[in-house]
Parts: sequence; C-alpha cells; structure tokens
Amino acid sequence: MTTSRATVVGAGIVGLAAASRLLDRGWEVTVLADRSTAESTSHLAAAVWFPTRAAPRDRVLAWGATTFRELADQARREVPGVVMRESLALYREDPGEPWWSAAVEDLRPARRDELPGCYSHGLRFTVPLVEMPVHLPWLAEHVAGRGARFVTRRLDTLDDAVGPTHPADLVVAAPGLGARELVPDDTVTPVRGQIVRVANPGLTRSVRDEAHPGGRAYVHPRAHDVILGGTLEEGVWDATPDPATAEAIVARCTDLVPEIADADVLDTVAGLRPARPTVRLERAALADGTPVIHDYGHGGSGVTLAWGCADEVAELA
Ligand SMILES: Cc1cc2nc3c(=O)[nH]c(=O)nc-3n(C[C@H](O)[C@H](O)[C@H](O)COP(=O)(O)OP(=O)(O)OC[C@H]3O[C@@H](n4cnc5c(N)ncnc54)[C@H](O)[C@@H]3O)c2cc1C
Repeated sequence: MTTSRATVVGAGIVGLAAASRLLDRGWEVTVLADRSTAESTSHLAAAVWFPTRAAPRDRVLAWGATTFRELADQARREVPGVVMRESLALYREDPGEPWWSAAVEDLRPARRDELPGCYSHGLRFTVPLVEMPVHLPWLAEHVAGRGARFVTRRLDTLDDAVGPTHPADLVVAAPGLGARELVPDDTVTPVRGQIVRVANPGLTRSVRDEAHPGGRAYVHPRAHDVILGGTLEEGVWDATPDPATAEAIVARCTDLVPEIADADVLDTVAGLRPARPTVRLERAALADGTPVIHDYGHGGSGVTLAWGCADEVAELA
C-alpha cells in the first residue's frame, strides 16, 4: 500500500498544526513556505488563547475549545514555550457572560480588591499562552523529526503546489495573509497589530482591557519579557512600527499594570493579522483536480484556533 502525500502551504502556526495532525494519521507531509517560521506573523503573535477578530462564532468556539484543551495538555507535558497563564480581563461595565466562556475552565468574576482603581468589573480565568519564539521553532523541528520535509519556495498560484517534480494527493492551504494573492481571495485583508516588548519586572498574570478609551490594551508576561499591546488596525498594510503608537501602548498598559511603567523597552514590532469575514476551512479542488483544504483567515486568533482547525483538516483529508 502506498502512503498518501500531502503538501501543506504555510509554515506558520496554522500550517504546522495541520502538518502535525496529518502526520498523526500517516500522511507523508511536505511543508512549503516562502519564508522561515521566524519571519511569519505567527512568530510575533502575543499568542494568548483569546478569540479576537475571527468568525463565525459557533465554529470559532468549537475550534477554540479544542485548541484550549490541546494547549493545556501541551503545557502539562511541558512542551517548549507553552504555559497556562492566570488572566484578568477588566471592564468598566458589567460584561455579562462572554460568548467564549464555554471554552474556558475556571471563569469567575474578579473581586473588588483584585481590580485597579478605574475598573468596576473584571473576570478571572486561566488560558494558554504560547511563547512563539520558543515554541514555533520547536514545533517545526518536531514536525520535521517525525518525517515532514520542509521546502522553501514562493508559489504564485496554489495550482503550482503540485507538479511532476513535486506530486501530492492533497494540498492544505495555510498561507495566512498570502491567501489574498495565492488562492486568490480578495476577502482576505490585513489587520495591523503593533506590540511593545519590555523586560519582565516579575509579572506572572495577564491583564487585558479590550475597551480602553485609548485603544485595546493587554499585558502578557512571558518568561523573560512582557508583551504590551496593542492595536487592531483594519486594512492597514504598513508593518513598520510607529514610535508614537509604541508610547501610547506603554501609557495605556501602565493604567492596567502600574509595575511596567519603569520596565526597559526591548523593542516594538508590528504584524499583519490575516483577517477574513469568516475563517475559510473547507475542501475544494485545484485546476488539475487535486483536492485542496483551505485553512486560512484566522485574523487575531490563529494561535487560539490552530489545533481545532488542524483536527478538522485531518478529518476532511
Ligand atoms: C501583534 C499581533 C498579536 C497577536 N496576538 C495573538 C494572540 O494573542 N492570540 C492569537 O491566537 N493570535 C494572535 N495573533 C494572530 C496570529 O498571529 C495569526 O492569526 C496567526 O499567526 C495566523 O497564522 P497562519 O499560520 O495562518 O499565518 P502566518 O503565520 O502568516 O503564516 C503564513 C505562512 O504562509 C507562507 N506563505 C504565504 N504566502 C505564500 C506563498 N505565496 N508561497 C509560499 N508560502 C507562502 C508564509 O511564508 C508563512 O509560512 C496576533 C497577531 C499580531 C500581528
């Protein structure tokens, strides 16, 4: 019996998770990408489990719940870069029960004495946080160690993923924002995000305010640094970090966690989230009839959804 061959286009978190699940099911896998994992959007993500700018809600909740369980298990197994983080979400008005609450195990209202001055409500919960510069290279090596072949190549069209010199029985399209030209799919658009990295003054809890008057604000401590965010700029293609935006991010994050006021700023980066009105996860066919499974358009939730989507890719395959 011959093994079926799959080519996964994309070596960000979505492509690597799909590659891993296909390997689980005995596929012979090639991962094809035009850049290294370190140059992907996935690499710079704050990478905390939290559904952001992704739809539709019912599928996002199901993929998010599966990914939550997978990452919680990875944290238990001490997979490099994956930890569970205590979190506090702050609100100025009663948030009610968040739509994503079913995916989180220990959600509870924050007590008054847990809230910084200007906040009247808060939610406490524990979620996975993935330190991507540690985890993503590990995941790529792990997938390679199980037999996946990595090819660095830029595709102009998805049909070029298969040819006489590189045959495949299945293509998985996980090119993130690249889907706009590659598929092509002009409903895929960038949502720019800028973040600031500061030295960690000893923080261990994530804090966020999605409705801060100055813009979204979040403080995500990692082992040696803290990610301060962020922006969510629809349709903006320029990924050059802006110094004034960085200053504003630090200022509003200081409202949430005053301890970061004097932390050394290490750098500021911006990335383009691959947004789409809804995540595309479905089976289609290339021009030559080869089946393709599209897995892109995860917006601000690629890390939050990757493993749930990867399971569905493996089912569809
Ligand atoms: C500032 C910021 C903070 C974020 N924080 C979070 C967070 O806390 N939680 C969360 O869940 N998500 C977060 N995200 C979103 C997350 O980063 C994305 O949803 C996720 O990285 C998408 O992963 P992906 O694998 O689809 O795309 P990418 O990581 O962009 O990977 C795409 C891959 O496709 C390849 N490719 C593209 N075009 C071609 C082509 N033509 N030929 C060959 N290869 C191609 C690329 O080389 C790359 O390997 C954040 C994003 C930003 C910018």
